[in-house]
Amino acid sequence: MSNKTKKKIVLVALNAKYIHSNPGIYSLQSYSLRKNPDVGVDTAVFTINQDAGKIMEEIYAMDPGLIGFSCYIWNIAMIRTIVRNLSRILPDTEIWLGGPEVSYCAEEILAELPVYGVMIGEGEETFAGLVREYYSLDKDYRRVKGIVTRAFHTGDPDVCGMDELPFVYRDLNRGDFENHILYYESSRGCPYSCTYCLSSIDKQVRFKSLDKVFEELQFFLDHGVRQVKFLDRTFNCRDSRAIAIWRYLSEHDNQITNFHFEIAAETLSEEALDLLAGMRPGLVRLEIGIQSTDPDTLKRIRRVMDPDQCRHVMEKLRKNGNIRLHLDLIAGLPGESYERFIRSFNEVYLMRPHELQLGFLKVLKGTAIEKEAHEAGIVYGAEPPYEVLYTADLSYAQLRKLKAVEEMLESYYNSNQFERSIGFLEQYFETPYELYEALAEFYRENNYTVAQPSRIKRYEILLAFWEQCCPESKVSAQYDPEDAEKMLKECLLYDLYARECLKKRPDFAGDVPARIRQRESRLRAEDLHVEHFEILTGAPADLQFDYKDRDPVSGNAKVREEEKDEKENGRDLTDPG
Ligand code: SF4
Repeated sequence: MSNKTKKKIVLVALNAKYIHSNPGIYSLQSYSLRKNPDVGVDTAVFTINQDAGKIMEEIYAMDPGLIGFSCYIWNIAMIRTIVRNLSRILPDTEIWLGGPEVSYCAEEILAELPVYGVMIGEGEETFAGLVREYYSLDKDYRRVKGIVTRAFHTGDPDVCGMDELPFVYRDLNRGDFENHILYYESSRGCPYSCTYCLSSIDKQVRFKSLDKVFEELQFFLDHGVRQVKFLDRTFNCRDSRAIAIWRYLSEHDNQITNFHFEIAAETLSEEALDLLAGMRPGLVRLEIGIQSTDPDTLKRIRRVMDPDQCRHVMEKLRKNGNIRLHLDLIAGLPGESYERFIRSFNEVYLMRPHELQLGFLKVLKGTAIEKEAHEAGIVYGAEPPYEVLYTADLSYAQLRKLKAVEEMLESYYNSNQFERSIGFLEQYFETPYELYEALAEFYRENNYTVAQPSRIKRYEILLAFWEQCCPESKVSAQYDPEDAEKMLKECLLYDLYARECLKKRPDFAGDVPARIRQRESRLRAEDLHVEHFEILTGAPADLQFDYKDRDPVSGNAKVREEEKDEKENGRDLTDPG
């Protein structure tokens, strides 16, 4: 009883970046096809960096009768613009919105935008029902749960069983996911109640069966996918299940694919830690949200977090250097002052993650913190991403200072391109925060921006920063000024060459010793580089940077000391003559 002569349905995704994939619309497409086998749905994928006019042109050319947009915090502004104009050039087309950015404010969206309706909550069942009704001869969207229009609200959506969710990558060609991060979910929901998080609304956690998870993970492994990011909100909320999946990945490792998980550190069992310790370097990446180490703030945001236990777990995870570790902090949480946030920063920094993300509170629609914001003195932006402007405890000026520190952190710490240099400079400051704060001030005084300088320029800036800001520091380092300068230059040189073999040598690097210069073209052909060090290495030594053999955790070239007799004889290991 379907009307297949109707115009097609198109699901539109606007991703944040090209390398991101959007499993959401593919899941809706596949699930709908399973439920409505005689009618297909088209997809159109763009990024928010594309021109809105061009996107509209492409959607228009598809001649759709119904368009569904998947709305997130990063694309809602662009969707607003597109929807307003599309409704003018396609007045008879039904425009529907779904996704977290519209699920908790459907009535507001309907009042504001010329859309036909909003799908709320998880979309698979609702969208399949929408497709069925759209093609039905007696179309009635009232029969579909999870729908809000100007005329009616059909209540909470039905949810499908996790094992019923389609595996959206099976039909894609290998080229479709080359250079893309593929997202995968083995569970939905989160048992925790953090007040700033949308996932806390869905407390019931649903899991895919392990057999199905293994089968799907094997697909990624068989196809040599580069990176798979689990969307599970707290992957290890059931320890035994996390262990089973990690064990599977360890036993079926293809030496290529890496898997990213968001976990709660303090609940990792010793068995899980032992298993992780034995994994291939680079196989697993872990993201751990600490957010604050202030017990009062943690209590106010209802976040279960024990910073001491987290520190203990981080020590264990760092020990073998085989797992890339990402920690998160959030500035602007209720009750956390500037001084207390700096303490959180220093405590988390000293856990020595590979990346420390300094995020800023976003007051998302539908979260508990949205309802408490006024009372808690949290003032935030009126437009997405609804980021905190100031709080009762943290002024706007202090938040701007933290923004500048965050830029320095991204550039000089999270890039992993300055490990030795930053490690050396830390000695001049009482706390890590003071270093980044001083560096941010140096950038401001000199009108530098992080977006503009080339990579070499950033190393040169660090040297100038040391010359102007560090020797006068009240904290003295362990070197006399001459050795300190030499040490910093060696650290900069080491960090520079650890990342890539440069075509142009920076001025501060000095001349290449003649015995190395003679071998340069041969070394380059072997994808090697050799530099001479004196202070950094404790005694004069030639270090060889091997770009064919990179550390899978940091991405930096492996560095080895050249054999002494080879240096003395001027012989290269790679030169049999
Ligand atoms: S922040 Fe993490 S742990 Fe807290 S509710 Fe959200 S997903 Fe769960």
